Amino acid sequence: MDRDQIFSALGLDTQPSGVFGGAWLDPSGEPLESENPATGGSIGTVRQASVADYGVVVSAAEEAFLEWRMLPAPKRGDYVRQIGNALRDHKEPLGALVSMEMGKIRAEGEGEVQEAIDIADFAVGLSRQLYGLTMVSERPRHRMYEQWHPLGPIGIITAFNFPVAVWAWNAFVAAVCGDTMIWKPSPAVPFTSIATTKICAEVMAGTGYEGVFNLTVGGIDVGEAMVGDSRLPLISATGSVRMGATVGAKVAGRLGRSILELGGNNAIIVMDDADLDLAVRASLFAAAGTAGQRCTSLRRLIVHQAISDVLAERLVEAYAQIPIGDPLDGGTLMGPLINGDAVTNTKAALDIALEQGGVLLYGGAPVDRPGHFFEPTLVKIPASAAIVQEETFGPIMWMIEVDSLDEAISVQNGVRQGLSSAIFTDSLRNAERFLSAEGSDCGIANVNIGTSGAEIGGAFGGEKETGGGREAGSDSWKAYMRRQTVTINWSSELPLAQGIEFG
Ligand code: NAD
Repeated sequence: MDRDQIFSALGLDTQPSGVFGGAWLDPSGEPLESENPATGGSIGTVRQASVADYGVVVSAAEEAFLEWRMLPAPKRGDYVRQIGNALRDHKEPLGALVSMEMGKIRAEGEGEVQEAIDIADFAVGLSRQLYGLTMVSERPRHRMYEQWHPLGPIGIITAFNFPVAVWAWNAFVAAVCGDTMIWKPSPAVPFTSIATTKICAEVMAGTGYEGVFNLTVGGIDVGEAMVGDSRLPLISATGSVRMGATVGAKVAGRLGRSILELGGNNAIIVMDDADLDLAVRASLFAAAGTAGQRCTSLRRLIVHQAISDVLAERLVEAYAQIPIGDPLDGGTLMGPLINGDAVTNTKAALDIALEQGGVLLYGGAPVDRPGHFFEPTLVKIPASAAIVQEETFGPIMWMIEVDSLDEAISVQNGVRQGLSSAIFTDSLRNAERFLSAEGSDCGIANVNIGTSGAEIGGAFGGEKETGGGREAGSDSWKAYMRRQTVTINWSSELPLAQGIEFG
């Protein structure tokens, strides 16, 4: 599919409004050009929100909340079901748009839309399961229980690398919970957010609930206005640790609630008893897939020294076969980085690594073609090198040698981030040790499968600097609602008032 075919299938034009507040607005912010990272060419120009436009959108979300919160949750779930079906109908062109604008390959672009469909199904099920507990009262003839109410209009801030799925994790669960929302997408992928919002808007048109799923493509001023806005009781923000530290502190400063899904520095441990065929395939996919631009991408391969040389050799051989190219082309396995800065940052991290004792085993250079490509890169490096403490958001895998499982776990946990981790071993003891309280300290711990996000139904999210956010687990909906404890007196007495004559 080329751009015109994708746009026509999604009803997009090349200069769309990026602002939806119950209806598409004619916004007054700076125009934003979106670039195809595989070619460097322009996809089109989006009309962005100003802070004043953002104010209009918040009012629409507040107004819609008054009605949406009173709709029974299973009926809200039914709208989410219809949106899930509309996403099914648009899976191919929307997946292709993700590939064109973000740079991930076709299978991953469509896979991302599928993830949004899956979370819609999950949220539909949840819409009939927003249960509270019944409690035992200390008082005679009293009953206590908890109930869960919608929270309000909420803010959703998303990163560039999952331009549909991250919004969907939040939006569909929040919607069945009775919240309305305002989405501020990454400025790198505005067309994907517009196409997704259009799909929602078409389903919601004429229902009276048009103001549930809103959008503000906008600059940092709009993002900051949202974060500081006490009309939004919850901000869910996905992105870098740097962004999360700023956003988290600002929301806490107004005593609001935040969900933070931030950067990772993910590791696979490969023990000397591992199935190496499995370990090689999983490591390659985890490190080079999405050109190393997943929050869960493999950064650190921690390898037992007994198999280190053979694993390195096999990885180099496999890396040499990765087809790099336009993500819209069928044979491509690795696409571009998101922009020129990402290429510069990847190269800078590599240069630092080589100064800190790293040895280049494969790759190491930008690819000489239009767009923003960087070779999949493998570097052997000591665990003590400072650069491996950082999340380098590109296709570099650091290979670190260790002598034992104890050392491997200590190296793996010895970073500030705590998102995804994995061990490759055929030993039950090693696996159980890795999964125990003295094992991995990450939000996600896998055995014989690479670093990844959890599947829908598992709680995504990480520990330490990764932020502790949880969107999709079986009880994660509680973050999008407020709990209320109810006490009902069905006796004819109020014990505290005994002894007083009320006449
Ligand atoms: P980023 O931090 O640069 O931007 C993320 C979003 O935050 C964007 O929409 C941006 O406009 C917005 N933003 C930045 N500063 C802000 C501020 N002060 N106020 C309000 N909004 C602000 O991240 P990115 O480069 O788009 O994405 C890559 C990062 O995201 C990586 O670190 C990756 O690990 C992380 N990520 C984490 C998860 C997860 O689930 N943990 C998922 C995807 C991406």
